[in-house]
Amino acid sequence: MSFARSFRCGHCGVDVSLDAPGTSHRNHCPHCLWSRHLDRNVPGDRRAGCSGAMEPIAVTVRGERRWVLIHRCTGCGRLRLNRTAGDDNVLLLMQLAAMPLAMPPVPYAMAVPVVGEVTHS
Ligand SMILES: [Zn+2]
Ligand SMILES: [Zn+2]
Repeated sequence: MSFARSFRCGHCGVDVSLDAPGTSHRNHCPHCLWSRHLDRNVPGDRRAGCSGAMEPIAVTVRGERRWVLIHRCTGCGRLRLNRTAGDDNVLLLMQLAAMPLAMPPVPYAMAVPVVGEVTHS
């Protein structure tokens, strides 16, 4: 598959069209959500001079139903926020969002009081 304006994902190797629904500037792969460290300040300036692979590490929400991906550069460690696109892999986004819930810092049994074990004295 090839597009008029596209790039090849450096992580999973699929060809990705630069035209993405819901965002004016595609900056990450909709299949694996990895990105590339190309922009320094504003999306599209292509002045980072790093070009390291950027790993999607978390999802946050900005405004109403606007999901934002947090990428960390595996080359220089910088964090970047990237708007999600309409055709991003929803399952992967959900997994990222649920990750802290699946791995709480304390066991649920300790954090949640057990119902039905109230002692009457
Ligand atoms: Zn990819
Ligand atoms: Zn970098």
